[in-house]
This record gives sequence, structure tokens and C-alpha cells, in this order.
Amino acid sequence: MIPVSVNVWCHGVSFSRRIMDLKESGTLKVLDKVKALQSKGVNIIQLDVGEPDFNTPANIVKAAENALENGFTHYTPSTGIPELREAIASKLSNENKLDVKKENILVTPGSKQALFYAIMAIIDKGDEVVIPTPAWPSYMEMVTVAGGKVREVKAEEDFALDIEGIKRTINSKSKLLVLNSPNNPTGYVYSKDELKSVAEVAEDAGIYVISDEIYEKILYSGACSSIGALPGMSEHTVTVNGFSKTYAMTGWRIGYAAAPKSVISAMNKLQQHSASCPASFVQKAALEALKPETAVDPMIQEFKRRRDYLCEALPKLKVFKVDKPRGAFYVFPDISRSGMTSEKFCDLLLEKGGVSTTPGEPFGNYTSNIRISYANSMKNLQEAVSRMTRVLEQAGLA
Ligand code: PLP
Repeated sequence: MIPVSVNVWCHGVSFSRRIMDLKESGTLKVLDKVKALQSKGVNIIQLDVGEPDFNTPANIVKAAENALENGFTHYTPSTGIPELREAIASKLSNENKLDVKKENILVTPGSKQALFYAIMAIIDKGDEVVIPTPAWPSYMEMVTVAGGKVREVKAEEDFALDIEGIKRTINSKSKLLVLNSPNNPTGYVYSKDELKSVAEVAEDAGIYVISDEIYEKILYSGACSSIGALPGMSEHTVTVNGFSKTYAMTGWRIGYAAAPKSVISAMNKLQQHSASCPASFVQKAALEALKPETAVDPMIQEFKRRRDYLCEALPKLKVFKVDKPRGAFYVFPDISRSGMTSEKFCDLLLEKGGVSTTPGEPFGNYTSNIRISYANSMKNLQEAVSRMTRVLEQAGLA
């Protein structure tokens, strides 16, 4: 009998190198632990989730229903339906000041797919990709699939970009820099000055920038700028955004990229030969989402209330050092006063308190931070804080 290892499928056929090099998702690892406890009847408050706990607004659902009833159920152009590309281009030029037209837009099944296409289109084996951390782990894994090498640059103490660190890291092999603001996991929002500095560095080095702006509207104060709107940047920026977070549409799988036409055609080649196109009726729903009547403000206000609550409650437990974020729906407190690694700390909260959070390791080896998502009700957040208080007091850490 042929021995079967994790790297071998069957009949001795091994998986590809690129799959063997890929790490499993850190967030899914937490979910597995949660599911195992839930199956034993343990009540868990999930603060590891990366999606709004709200329903998709009714007008968007209605638009999808209408599209289905009207038989809008066939393939669409691979780039997306023209009216949606037009509406996205107009949103990006009016709100984000990007110099884009319909031809610069590719609609994709989720923004994750747009990021994947962009990285696959730009990165060759051996190319280097600069990723300021803390960062969403999927960027690192996508670069690995593309055969590239990730060069992480840790943020400053308060999560600001380390511009000098980025400059030092860029070399002749660098081809791309990935930015994400508002940031997952820190909620940090890059200032216009930070973006100007990083734009200068990218322009001097002649490298592409991917700007992931998926949390753009989940913003509690100040503004959020697009690097692609800065002088000289439109030619080498891929701006990625989507509908998942702003419109509570995670399960619909719809996102987009805006980039120079040549980059869009390169990305579209990948879409043509994989997804073919995003789901037809979902594109109609996305078109509706972009209309001014879609109510997003109540959700943002509720997220703000929860952020304010957590940023007041957590520091009362002396183990947490919290930087109050301006955007997204996460806090990324430092827990080094516990003397534990973040993985051990998360296990303690989960096993003894029934509260699931995500360790900082996958976000760029942040062993002293944990990610707490407040995409959960205020009632559950309050219960989670009281559970954490009990566990930390028992462990002598409160
Ligand atoms: N970018 C970031 C920073 C995210 O946190 C996520 C989802 O968690 C995505 C992209 C993917 O979003 P989508 O649902 O549009 O694929």
C-alpha cells in the first residue's frame, strides 16, 4: 500500500509545491477550536469574527430578488456588467478622487479575488512584496502562491507606518507594496501625510501599490484617503474595495479593483479562466447598494458605540494596553503584561471564559497582541468583558 502523508493526495501523487508552502488560515484555526467546544455544549461568545453581524439592507436584497425573478441568471461579461462598472467608477472618482473610468474597473467575486488576481498578475517567482504589518494574513499567503517573497515591515508603536523601514526594505527585487487602511487587525487609518510619504517611496522605486480599502466606510473620525489619488500614483496603484463590510454582504461575494487598463486586462484574463464572472444577480444587488438610499450609517454608529465601550472597558483590566482605533471593527490590544504569548492568552480566554479571540501571530508574528472583533452585539460584548474579568482575576492578571 502506498503511504499517504499530508502532502500526498493518493496513489503517490503529491500536492503542488505552492499548496504545500501555503499556511492554513489562522482565523479558521480559532474557528475549529470554537466548533469543537460548541459541539460539547459550551457557550462561546465569538469575538474572532471578521464580518458585520447585521443583515444586508432590505433594498439590496430586493434588487437581487427582482433580478432573479426577471431571469437575470446568465453569465455576464467577465469584467462585470457595464452599469455596475460605471457606477463603481463614478463612486471612485467622486468620493475617492481617483482618475478612473468604467474601463479601469474589474468586478470580482469578493475583494479577496481581486487581491488574488492583482498579486498573480504582478508577481513572478522571486519577486519581493513589501507588506507593512500588522497585516491581514491572506496577503502573505497570496504572495506565496504567486511564488513571491514577503518582506514584512513592522509598524511603529502606535501602528503608524514605518516609512524608513519600508525604504530600507525595498531593493531591486521589490515589485509591490500592499497597504490596508483602515487596517485589519489594528483599525489604524493612515493619514494623508503617511500616504504621501509612502507614495514617494513607491514612485522612486518604481513599484506597484495595492491599496485595500475594504473598511473605508467603517470610519469613526477624520477622513480616509486613497493613495491612488495622489499625484503620479494612478499609473501604479491597484485600488481594491468591495461590498462585504460596508453593506453587510460577506456571503454575496462581490468586490472590485480599479487600476490602469493594462492591469485590469491582465487580471481579467485570470477571471475569464477561473470564475468567468461574478454572479449576475449579485451584481444587480451591488448596483443597488451604491445608491444613496442604502442606509449604512446606523450600522457604523452602532460599531462606534461598541468601539467606545470596549476601549473604555478593556484598559480597566490591567493586562490590556489598547490603542483606540479610528476605523474597521477590531481592536488589537497588547497583552504582554500577561507574560503569555498571544496564542496561550487566547486559549485561556476561550477555554476558561468561553470567549474566542484571534492571536496576533498570523498578522506578522505579533505574539504580544490579540485581535478582538466587535462585530457582535453590545449585550454579548458586555458579557464577554465580564467573563474575561473573571478569568483574568482567577489567573491573577486583572
Ligand atoms: N481585505 C481585508 C483586509 C479583509 O479583512 C477581508 C475580509 O476579512 C477582505 C479583504 C476580503 O473581503 P471580501 O469578503 O470582499 O472578499
